[in-house]
Amino acid sequence: MPARDNTGPVEQRLARALSASGAVSLSDPKFAKYLDQNDKVAVLRDQFNIPKKRTVWTEACRQERGADKVDDGEEDAVYLAGNSLGLMPKRTPELLSEELHVWSTSGVLGHMDHDYQRPWVKIDEHVTPYLAEIVGAQPSEVACMGTLTGNLHTLFTSFYQPTPTRHKILYEGKAFPSDAYAFASHVALHDYSPESLLPVYPRDGEHSIRTEDILQIIEEKGDSIAVICFGAVQYYSGQWFDMEAITKAGHAKGCIVGFDCAHAVGNVPLKLHDWGIDFACWCSYKYLNAGPGGIAGLFVHERWEHRKRLHGWWGHDKETRFAMPSSYAPLPGAAGWQFSNPSVLDVVALLASLQIFDAAANFLPREEADGHVTRRGHVLGALREKSVDMTGYLEILLRSSRYYREPDALAPSAASTRTAGARFTIITPLDPSQRGCQLSLLFEPVESMDWIFDRLRSCGVLGDERRPGVIRFAPVPLYNTYSDALRAALALDSSLEAYEKEGGGGPANRA
Ligand SMILES: *Cc1c(COP(=O)(O)O)cnc(C)c1O
Repeated sequence: MPARDNTGPVEQRLARALSASGAVSLSDPKFAKYLDQNDKVAVLRDQFNIPKKRTVWTEACRQERGADKVDDGEEDAVYLAGNSLGLMPKRTPELLSEELHVWSTSGVLGHMDHDYQRPWVKIDEHVTPYLAEIVGAQPSEVACMGTLTGNLHTLFTSFYQPTPTRHKILYEGKAFPSDAYAFASHVALHDYSPESLLPVYPRDGEHSIRTEDILQIIEEKGDSIAVICFGAVQYYSGQWFDMEAITKAGHAKGCIVGFDCAHAVGNVPLKLHDWGIDFACWCSYKYLNAGPGGIAGLFVHERWEHRKRLHGWWGHDKETRFAMPSSYAPLPGAAGWQFSNPSVLDVVALLASLQIFDAAANFLPREEADGHVTRRGHVLGALREKSVDMTGYLEILLRSSRYYREPDALAPSAASTRTAGARFTIITPLDPSQRGCQLSLLFEPVESMDWIFDRLRSCGVLGDERRPGVIRFAPVPLYNTYSDALRAALALDSSLEAYEKEGGGGPANRA
């Protein structure tokens, strides 16, 4: 093991489990199995469709395997790409077919009269209470609507109101491109120059942005900043920003503070209301498993319920919406930011997954108050516990690889070391309180990543690649297992060994 503080709570829990398991080491499959058997939320995996190894294989690999029939590929794949597209709940097709049934048998009447008690006019009411719990908001502060970038634009239309003295947007320098394009377009729409864009970068040689650096910029330039908007969990590095500290600092300087929670929602416990965040948005196809392009969401803190916004009929008072009055009466809260009737098929696809999150919350301890039994803790509580341990387990396994290097020991650009095989580091913060479940692995030389990524696929391990040089592994507590983490770490080691032997020259298909 590289030098590291091995006394953290995750290490301690794993050490205790190791002695109880009778396994010989952390990388003993018996140990991973022991952890899976003692995982109280493990039953939830059965609620999802898990891809098979053969569907994860590259085409070349499939042909080769087909020829020698060494492996039929029927084993479950190790799916670690839930940060990009969450897996499909088994209940999704059932809910979709119920809606198709109502549509086919009742037509337009389904808006009011619905065989499954989900009249379409109020379909959002089936998901907003769950969403509110997941993001830590009051139900009136969330709306299920639109798409992520669309919602970011909607919120910026309300919250980015630049003035000649306060017109800047502060954001992370390597923001998801869509967000950066969106910020730039709002600056341009208001006829400000690109100098109004204020990106913050990690220090030279570092991969995460230090909170102290963010707070210092806010302190120094806050008077000129109109909106601060960070990805809550950075999509590339996996860094979970200190949302509360950033919000507090921004408010002290009179800035509006929002977050793009695309990689945070369903991944880390959020308290958007208590942290005082002004606005937030998210997509639902990543950790919320609502399917490709699924319906997104937004949060507007109750203090802004009267903020000016764009109008459409779905933001109008439900009681009189269908009377089509000529004057506009907004719904209270975030619901008033809606414009259009939502896609019902998309909403129920999200519902299928939210019901599983709700079931996960049943693993929380309960307490009785005023004669009511309530859950104690955040809805993600039990999942977060597993997430911290499983990601910590994967991290320890990866860092014990002989191909692992500490971040500062990996040359930034390393064409010169090409002959020596490939190495990797982890650019995600090692402190569990600064990350969700994702670990981002940076390879050197960066060109080795594609070969290794394909090789991993041939081992039935699907991560998520970000050129240049990064593979993201996201063990998702709802459906991944400790055995998945071990299989991924072993497959990575064998892939790097093969790369060293074969120089990455040939096809990456043999495992
Ligand atoms: C996934 C993601 C997007 C994608 O935007 P869509 O509008 O859903 O296509 C945008 N921003 C961030 C930060 C993301 O993680």
